[in-house]
Amino acid sequence: MYTSLVLRDKSVIWHPFTNLTDNQPPIPIASAKGAVLFDEQGNAYIDAISSWWVNLHGHAHPHIANKIFEQASTLEHIIFAGFTHRPAVELAERLLKILPGNFSKVFYSDNGSTSTEVALKMALQYWWNKSEPRRKKILAFSGAYHGDTFGAMSASDRGVFTLAFHDLLFEVIFIDPPATDDVHVQLNTILENENEIAAFIYEPLLQGAGGMHVYSAAGLDLLLQSLQSMNIICIADEVMTGFGRTGTLFASERMSAKPDIICLSKGLTGGTRPLGVTACRAYIQDAFVSEDRLKTFFHGHSFTANPLGCAAALASLDLLEKEECREGMRRIEKAIRQFLITLSEKHHGSIKNARSLGTLMAFELNTGKNEYLNTIGAVVTQMALSKGVYLRPLGNTLYILPPYCITEDQLAMIFDTIFSILESLKEPASY
Ligand code: PMP
Repeated sequence: MYTSLVLRDKSVIWHPFTNLTDNQPPIPIASAKGAVLFDEQGNAYIDAISSWWVNLHGHAHPHIANKIFEQASTLEHIIFAGFTHRPAVELAERLLKILPGNFSKVFYSDNGSTSTEVALKMALQYWWNKSEPRRKKILAFSGAYHGDTFGAMSASDRGVFTLAFHDLLFEVIFIDPPATDDVHVQLNTILENENEIAAFIYEPLLQGAGGMHVYSAAGLDLLLQSLQSMNIICIADEVMTGFGRTGTLFASERMSAKPDIICLSKGLTGGTRPLGVTACRAYIQDAFVSEDRLKTFFHGHSFTANPLGCAAALASLDLLEKEECREGMRRIEKAIRQFLITLSEKHHGSIKNARSLGTLMAFELNTGKNEYLNTIGAVVTQMALSKGVYLRPLGNTLYILPPYCITEDQLAMIFDTIFSILESLKEPASY
C-alpha cells in the first residue's frame, strides 16, 4: 500500500522545493497526533520543525478540530466583498488587542506570501494615493525571505530561490541586518535614498529561510526609529516569528519602535488552515478613504478570510492563552539551553555559530560550503528519519523549532538524534 501510494504520487504530483531528479521518495503520512507524525506503515517521527514552522499546539488538536468542524457545518465560505461573518470580525478584534503596536485594521488573505504581497502593495499604493510618486522603492535586508510570489520574491534576498527571475524582480535597496547597535553603514544607504523609499520590510530578530539568522534587536530598533522619523512605512513580516516562536508573543515586542504594518500566517491558525493577515495602522488606511474610486485597494483572493481559517485561528488563540502553552515554550527553551552547553563541550569542532532565540535552536555544520544547496541537509534528514525524528536543515544550517506541546522525552530524543548524527558525520567539511 505504502509503495503503491508513492508510485501514484510520483506519476501525478509535483512537490514544492523538491528537485525532480531526487530519488528520495516522499513519505506517505497517514496521521499525526501532538508532536508525532505516523506514516502509512505505522512508523513514528517527531516533528522537530513544526511542519515548516506552522504547527503550534500539536497535530490534530481536538479543540481546533472541533471548532473547524462546527464552522464547516455552519458556514464554510463566503465571498468577503460585500459580506462579512462572525469568525472574521471576532478574530480581527482579538488580534488587534494583542498585536505589538497601534494597529487599527486587519486585511485578510490566505497565506504568508499573500500577507507580505498585500503589505507591499498597501504601502506602495499609500504613497500613490497621497500623490507622492517618488516614493516607489522598497528597502529590505540582505538574506531576507518574504515568500514566493513576485512582490515577495522581489523583497527577498537575490539568492538561489529567486535566481531564475532576477531580471524580472523590481528593484529593492538591500542593507545588512545589524549585528550590533552600530547601524551607521545602513543609515548612510537609507539617507542617500530617503525621499524615494516607500517602505521597509523585515523579519524582526530572526531571518528564517535565509538560514535562521539571529540579529541585533538594539540595531533594528535604531533603524526603525530612524526610518519612521523619515515617514518610511515599516512592515514587520512576523509570518514565522509570530505567536511565541522567539520567546515573546511577537518578536516586535522586543523593540520600542513598533511596525506600521504587520504580516501574519503560519502559526496564526495553529498550523491547521491556510490564512494570512496584514494589519495596518490607522494612518495607512486613511489614505485609501476617498470618493475617488481609483484610490480603492483593488486586492483580494477567493478565499480571503475563509471562515474555517478564522475559526481555527480563534481556537488557536484560546490555546495560546493557556498556561499549558507558556509552560511548553519554557520547557523547550530550557531544554535548548542545556543542549547548547553539551553541544559546545562535545562538538565544537564540527559545528559553528550555535544560537537560540525563544523556541528556536540552530547551528551550522562545519561544511566546506555554507549554502542552501549543500547536500548535507538531505543526508541529515535521512539519518534523523531513521531514528524517528524529522529534521529539515536549510543547507548546512541544522535547526529545531518544535510545537509547544512537545514533551521532555521527545525533546531528549531529538537532541540524542542530533548528537548521534554529529558522531556519524565524521567529516562534515567534505560536503
Ligand atoms: N515570510 C516569512 C518570514 C516566511 O518564513 C515565509 C514562509 N517560510 C513566508 C513569508 C511565506 O509564507 P508562505 O509559505 O505561507 O507563502
